[in-house]
Amino acid sequence: MIIDIERIPKEGLHIDRDFELESSELIEEEAVLLEPLHAEIDLHKEGDELFIKGKIHTVVSFICSRCLSPFEYLVDSEFDLVYLPEELFEIKEELTDDDLDLFFYVENQINLREIVLEQLNLTFPMKPLCSPDCQGICPICGQVINEGNCRCIRKSTDPRLEKLKTFIKR
Ligand SMILES: [Zn+2]
Ligand SMILES: [Zn+2]
Repeated sequence: MIIDIERIPKEGLHIDRDFELESSELIEEEAVLLEPLHAEIDLHKEGDELFIKGKIHTVVSFICSRCLSPFEYLVDSEFDLVYLPEELFEIKEELTDDDLDLFFYVENQINLREIVLEQLNLTFPMKPLCSPDCQGICPICGQVINEGNCRCIRKSTDPRLEKLKTFIKR
């Protein structure tokens, strides 16, 4: 969805729609989009500056990095971006004075689909976990420990301790 910046009216533009994205476009390889991405976006211009405020919502299925079970991850995220014409790229250093994200548009256009896709990818955790205290998989029999204990004798089921151990080994 390409937006022609020159055509954004003075009072701004409000967009409320679904974006059909492909799961293959997600940075997390095993992630699957379970719903279209819903976005509410407000665009407004002040001179050359373009302000984009948005909210995105969708549901993604991830594979837990500890127990390898799929789980649903709810995305409800907001973003606040400022775009400047690419001609101003060279004075970027001088312009960056606060924690607003600064981007540049080319030929008076932006692609909203790309922007929401990027913002969606930014919400993903580095290591997806079905729950913060997921117990993972029994290293002996492979059973998912969250679903019930197996009979194996494990020295430690505390994932924090396990982590520490691998750390010490290095
Ligand atoms: Zn898990
Ligand atoms: Zn076991």
